[in-house]
Amino acid sequence: MINKKSIEDVEVTGKKVLMRSDFNVPLDGSRVRDDTRIRAAVPTIESLIGRGARVVLASHLGRPGGEPKPELKMDPVAERLAHILSRPVHKIETVVGPEVKKRVAEMQEGELLLLENLRFEKGEEKNDPEFARQLAEPFDLFVNDAFGTAHRAHASTAGVASYLPAVAGLLMKKEIEELSRCLNDPARPLTAILGGAKVSDKLNIIRRFLELADNLLLGGGMANTFLVANGFTLGNSFYEEEMVKEAAELLAESEESGCCLLLPVDLAVTEELKPGASFKNLSPEEVDEGAKAVDIGPETVALFGDIITDAAMIVWNGPLGVFEVPPFDRGTAGVAAAVAGSGAYSVVGGGDLVAALEGLGLTDKVSFISTGGGATLEFWEGKELPGIAALLDK
Ligand code: ADP
Ligand code: MG
Repeated sequence: MINKKSIEDVEVTGKKVLMRSDFNVPLDGSRVRDDTRIRAAVPTIESLIGRGARVVLASHLGRPGGEPKPELKMDPVAERLAHILSRPVHKIETVVGPEVKKRVAEMQEGELLLLENLRFEKGEEKNDPEFARQLAEPFDLFVNDAFGTAHRAHASTAGVASYLPAVAGLLMKKEIEELSRCLNDPARPLTAILGGAKVSDKLNIIRRFLELADNLLLGGGMANTFLVANGFTLGNSFYEEEMVKEAAELLAESEESGCCLLLPVDLAVTEELKPGASFKNLSPEEVDEGAKAVDIGPETVALFGDIITDAAMIVWNGPLGVFEVPPFDRGTAGVAAAVAGSGAYSVVGGGDLVAALEGLGLTDKVSFISTGGGATLEFWEGKELPGIAALLDK
């Protein structure tokens, strides 16, 4: 059970607060293409300002690799945030140093500052203690709201907590609470749905949910590897040869685990993976040489749908087909419809699955969507995330 202090547990009035957010948003040139992550930070910012704190925001953006890159400056984020909050957001051109100290010292109540891209500094990703000290210097309190970066031990996620009292923001708190529900005393039956490309990326999470869940439904490219482990050939489909043995072991483990593991019973099979391509729904033994299985088929959607309908809690990571190339988004869409109809508490995580649900317009069909990609996976795997571990205990 993770029990960390949040901004609700400490005095913030009059404090100079360094708030780490995840503003790593997609850009179209100098415009923010998707501001979901910026909007997610608003409750924490409003709460801190409302309680009389002086808030200075910081984030990374893209991968500048420790040096300034004009196309990755934080200006588009400052502009969008100012628009969302209807209040001025002043960007500082640097991350640490005299200019930051001066601006923070002169801050007025209700004013918001945004530091330049943290990853313009070499010390950030190295978690250099001297850089972390400089980052902390002008402030009284550190608030970490960047759940999506919590699996990285960087200066602005972990290092800075050696120099300042560190607490969770409201988004970080909510992520921890929602993602923990399926790990600690879940409502049962708990059904886990796992998809995506590679078994090798998801080994730990498959194992974790074999232990935790009552049902484990596998789809996507990684289910192909399991089907090969079960003796099917699957033509020219994507699968991981080097993971077939692991998959066979997991299938054997599932026999003893008390978790019912289900693989696809039919697959959408195409000769050529392109938008609008023709395809057949075939059982795994029917896949021809040269053909590719790129989605789960309708019988599998129905089979998974029955289990989902009976679930009390659902966790889902990874798309169930090559959703980027319609019509091979149908399996993912069909399962999303079943999740929406089940009435169960449902939590969804993983960059590609979230993108798939956004593209399908189905994000409102689930109870909670995690803002983390890799961080969500590591949290569910049971790893300690450095950005959470660094926060003060309750
Ligand atoms: P997430 O980001 O949600 O954790 P992953 O990164 O593991 O998901 O996997 C997403 C990728 O899996 C997508 O690019 C999708 O095209 C791919 N994928 C899903 N099903 C298949 C399949 N049958 N064959 C090949 N690739 C697949
Ligand atoms: Mg992914």
